[in-house]
Amino acid sequence: MKNIDFKDKKALIRVDFNVPLDKNYNITDDTRIQAALPTIQYILDNGGAVILMSHLGRPLKKLNEDGSINVAKFTLKHTVNRLSESLGRPVQFVTETVGNAASAAASALKAGEVLVLENTRFQKEESKGDESFAKQLAALGDIYINDAFGTAHRAHASTTTVAQFFDADSKSFGFLLNKELENAKKVTENPARPLTSIVGGAKVSDKILLLDKMIEFVDNLIIGGGMAYTFMKAQGGNIGHSLCEEDKLDLALNLLEKAKARGVKVYLPEDSIAADQFSESADKQAAASNDIPDGYMGLDIGPKAIESFKEVVLASKTIVWNGPMGVFEMESYAKGTKTIAETVAAATQKGAFSLIGGGDSVAAVKTMKLDDQVSYVSTGGGAMLELLEGKVLPGVKAISEEK
Ligand code: AMP
Repeated sequence: MKNIDFKDKKALIRVDFNVPLDKNYNITDDTRIQAALPTIQYILDNGGAVILMSHLGRPLKKLNEDGSINVAKFTLKHTVNRLSESLGRPVQFVTETVGNAASAAASALKAGEVLVLENTRFQKEESKGDESFAKQLAALGDIYINDAFGTAHRAHASTTTVAQFFDADSKSFGFLLNKELENAKKVTENPARPLTSIVGGAKVSDKILLLDKMIEFVDNLIIGGGMAYTFMKAQGGNIGHSLCEEDKLDLALNLLEKAKARGVKVYLPEDSIAADQFSESADKQAAASNDIPDGYMGLDIGPKAIESFKEVVLASKTIVWNGPMGVFEMESYAKGTKTIAETVAAATQKGAFSLIGGGDSVAAVKTMKLDDQVSYVSTGGGAMLELLEGKVLPGVKAISEEK
């Protein structure tokens, strides 16, 4: 982005302003807006004007009863005041994404001014990656910047198709997207070793590609959370009522064999906190993860697992973590996830590079206020997962291809 001259130019920036709102449409977490500020500010400081486009929620999936769009709920106007406060300057808003009003507002924009377009997902063409819609968007600006890492894995009009209407010198990643790519590379390209991947969460099926790819380049693979029990059962363990994907038992064994063949050490939780109900008030006991009593389910990793996982994490030089170790939303089953978060922070303190790769592990690290004690917390769950799976994101390809 620093090679582009923004003076008196209009930069069309795809940001990710898909922020959570309360029932009165107040923003409850403005992390995504804050994360986009450096790019916006840089362009304004360098004499440009800024036109922002983003989606907010899934308006076309949640239509009003009469089939119309619930504009009151999904308008991007909800982000304007917070953006204006953060930038310390007025921000204009237009109630169209493309069309006469959007074109007029864009062409009247002067250097130093900021315009927010209406929600890109008000148009059904957005998620189809429609060319003529993308062309109309492209006509609004002189330069295209993609800083929406959270949607870079989607081949939508504003994230991907639009880029083809700008020549190689007039399009670029923003600072946030660039930072995400650089941090992912620290894991996937020449990482400091030992490299440990911690994978947790509910299902093996959601993380098959991740596990498969990780086995190709990590030294240690720690598997926790609900998905660990499919591995336990595949190896002949009794897992009681724990989460299990019966149709993934063979796959689990194949992954373990592949890991063995490649010399990757796999760490499954030796023990678990087993509960007789999915609730705080359940009867709980520590049990071997391959010998969970009938009627009980493993809802967190147990004390022995915590100790062995800690040891591996503390000896690592690169750590990538995706998915909680247990049902961390309930205090009784949060200890495994909390301890891993603290241990990743401690390893970082000792000089390791740590990447918190999206989803619920991000929530855990943030709730514990450890987000500034790890090396990098990704802003995009699905996008980071796909990067780590070795995929080239469509939003990234669209900009880098012709460069
Ligand atoms: P994911 O979105 O796949 O990363 O999964 C996150 C969800 O997995 C969280 O809501 C956790 O409560 C859930 N989870 C983690 N461990 C378990 C477990 N042992 N049993 C059931 N659910 C779990």
